[in-house]
Amino acid sequence: MVDGYHKMSRSAQLEWLRDHTQLTTDELDQFGVDYIHQQMIENYLTDFSLPEGIAVNFKVNQKEYAVPMVTEEPSVIAAASNGAKIVNLAGGFQSESQLLKMGQVLVSEIVDPEQLTAELNQVADQILEIANNAHPSIVKRGGGARSIRVRNLGHQCLSIDVFVDTQEAMGANIINTMMESVGNWIQEQFSGRLEVDLKILSNLADCALTTVKCDIPIQLINSDLERARDLAKRIAKASYFAQIDSYRAATHNKGILNGIDAVAIATGNDWRAIQSGAHAFAAQSGMYKGLSTWKVVDDKLCGVLKIPLPVASVGGSITINKQVQQNFKILKVNTAKELAEVIGSVGLAQNLAALKALAGEGIQQGHMKLQAKSLLIANGAMPEEVDSMLSLLFNQPKMNAQAAQKVIEEVRNKRNDGNKN
Ligand code: NDP
Repeated sequence: MVDGYHKMSRSAQLEWLRDHTQLTTDELDQFGVDYIHQQMIENYLTDFSLPEGIAVNFKVNQKEYAVPMVTEEPSVIAAASNGAKIVNLAGGFQSESQLLKMGQVLVSEIVDPEQLTAELNQVADQILEIANNAHPSIVKRGGGARSIRVRNLGHQCLSIDVFVDTQEAMGANIINTMMESVGNWIQEQFSGRLEVDLKILSNLADCALTTVKCDIPIQLINSDLERARDLAKRIAKASYFAQIDSYRAATHNKGILNGIDAVAIATGNDWRAIQSGAHAFAAQSGMYKGLSTWKVVDDKLCGVLKIPLPVASVGGSITINKQVQQNFKILKVNTAKELAEVIGSVGLAQNLAALKALAGEGIQQGHMKLQAKSLLIANGAMPEEVDSMLSLLFNQPKMNAQAAQKVIEEVRNKRNDGNKN
């Protein structure tokens, strides 16, 4: 136990870490400090870096994009670019999005839910006014609370859902502020007839849905028409399995989110919010299903992805993180809506590449090629040695730690022998 770690000076915190962890003084001395990031979180230690790369050849709603992606998984950017290129040749993605967000006031101990629902609906305009008065600046920007819905949850509980246009912001803080005012007002107005329990944003953002489509002439996935037909059919079947089996759907959706998360991180967006919304939406029918479907229609492979994407172009860390600002310059998106449409397209491209590999040669062949560099480094190769070792590693019967160590040793021995001669 440590009391008041957050109140300690930085040097006292480092001293505490030296005494209570395995970090050495040298290691602690090397931690860099970003003074802006230090203000963003509690108990800041240092910055943690992840690789960032660019996925290319995205065409969304007829506009070309280079997409910054932050990910530690070697195959993600290659797969996104691969999927994007195929769809680009087919004319690109068509993507559309709506960006309302929902807050909820959860109430309990209700005697007559139907009567209370009717009364709450009668004061809908007042509820919207209370919400808007709690955050007037979003109204000035053209947004604000738009409508309400009252849902009977059973068990003497109701949810008063408030739909809010948060413009360019993701809106969690805006909505939480609004819900606190609305909740307090409801408690006062309906005193003795209900208990207001929770006042907060819902991350099941099904009113911030992005729908992405693409229609791919099958010869773009294989120039041999018969093979292309077979592959397209297998891709459609793989997507069907994600509709009828939740175990498969979880992996299917993870592939989609591989791409979506990477762009969300690169653009300073809240990927936890996206993840929870995506999974909740995938289970909304009562069964967890794949978020995308693929069908073959008249020698075309047609993909559709529907996913909540409550993303932002301002707020949170977006405005203050320099790298995020640079990534917006790479991406050249002008609005949160456009960002959602590009991010959704990355999800569908990622899904296409994964299913194409899975239905074709299998996922491991490509995956392991891309993992090879990480495998060599994890087993002691220096970054500058990696290129000279790759082809040898590919020729090993199995690509694993033992094989990597063998290759490293071989290359180094050969180099040492060469130096001696
Ligand atoms: P902020 O609290 O940063 O609010 C965004 C602010 O940006 C607005 O209040 C507004 O301030 C300003 N702004 C400037 N230009 C615009 C514009 N064109 N449109 C809209 N706003 C504009 O962020 P959010 O309310 O969006 O909340 C997002 C943050 O909340 C994220 O960091 C998220 O991780 C976190 N969060 C998430 C939760 C969840 O998902 N459950 C819960 C709690 C927090 P003004 O109008 O006053 O100038």
